[in-house]
Amino acid sequence: MIPGIRGTRDILPAEVGRWRRVEGVARDLCARYGYAELRTPVIEREELFAKGTGESTDIVQKEMYAFTDKGGDRITLRPEATPSMVRSFVEHALEQELPCAKLYSLGPMFRYERPQKGRYRQFHQLDVEVFGITDPAVDAEVIEMASALVAELGIETAELVINSVGCDACRPRFSQALIDALGERVAELCGDCQRRSVTNPLRIFDCKVPADQPIIDQLPQSEDFLCDACRDHFAEVRRQLDAYGLSYRVSHRLVRGLDYYTRTTFEMLGTNLGAQNALLGGGRYDHLVKQLGGPDRPGIGFAAGLERLVLALPEGAGEIDVADAFVVALGDPSWSAARILARDLRRAGLTTLIDYEGRSSKSQMKRANRSRARHMLILGEDELASNQVTVKTMETGEQQTVTRADLVAHLRAVGTD
Ligand code: AMP
Repeated sequence: MIPGIRGTRDILPAEVGRWRRVEGVARDLCARYGYAELRTPVIEREELFAKGTGESTDIVQKEMYAFTDKGGDRITLRPEATPSMVRSFVEHALEQELPCAKLYSLGPMFRYERPQKGRYRQFHQLDVEVFGITDPAVDAEVIEMASALVAELGIETAELVINSVGCDACRPRFSQALIDALGERVAELCGDCQRRSVTNPLRIFDCKVPADQPIIDQLPQSEDFLCDACRDHFAEVRRQLDAYGLSYRVSHRLVRGLDYYTRTTFEMLGTNLGAQNALLGGGRYDHLVKQLGGPDRPGIGFAAGLERLVLALPEGAGEIDVADAFVVALGDPSWSAARILARDLRRAGLTTLIDYEGRSSKSQMKRANRSRARHMLILGEDELASNQVTVKTMETGEQQTVTRADLVAHLRAVGTD
């Protein structure tokens, strides 16, 4: 046996119902909020993420599946969707084409992280992006949609956390204030934080090392350094979230691990997911489109981890499909008619199972039971002669004879969902 790769998972038939439920709600919600679907490749140029996600981020420094292809180009499996969405938006001038530049995508991402529950090397995201709108109403709408996603999935144990990380005008002052406040104590922090203090001091707030926390708790807070425009923007976002009736916590430590965020950042945390508890996260990125060679357009979006939504889904959500019917052939002469019956039912839109290898009727019936199909359709010599089928409803054990002509209508009437 050649095992699968560490950090990757097979989504087994028994789990697929839960995945479909998450994907179905996600697609439906995106459509209702006016998003168009965009599908981008899983491979991109490495520089897209070096420039987009940020050279100093853990993702780019440590986690990319990057390689040189046979033509000598530096390629990577995408570690996140936003830079790809921006690239495609710019490359195809999508803002000319779409009534509103709201785009979503669903698909696999790849990061070479240490696998654990809720953290994988291949994982899946719903990614949602809006381009070209500065109005805080869009921040609030995107956050409201993120919380609707979680609520519509029936996940009740989630907390919304928001923050503002300021803009190019005010953030440098905040970064400097952090460095000044740390002073000599920077040497007491972990290696990652020492690196962050040089490359992007804000990300010190991402640190989870317990020994660092007393120092980090003493640091200045972003809200005290916001410029007037950022302060007003953040106040308006909060006012609109209040108007939607959403409860949230403001955490000055929510800086997020990517370089491109400006102003609003947010996350939804699952409160019963253990260490990997972020269900989704996002924020505003007002310079990324331009930075990646596009027009000067702001952006905002979020990415939700489908594995974590599936984990957080209430039990019993996303039942597995069961077949409408299992056709049983009684004796050799019935097989051919049984196969034609199965074909006709399938063509009529009913999920229909049938056995192979000429097994005995007893063994076919056992399989019909195991398949949990709603009805067993028995076809023997008598039924063939009278052009009828014996229908056994598995749940009640009730049995009746139905003519071939009435069969589809009968099966539909007794409930096929
Ligand atoms: P990020 O792109 O890092 O902001 O992550 C957005 C969301 O994707 C997170 O909130 C998680 O739900 C999910 N996510 C990120 N990394 C992983 C991973 N390695 N495995 C599973 N889900 C992940």
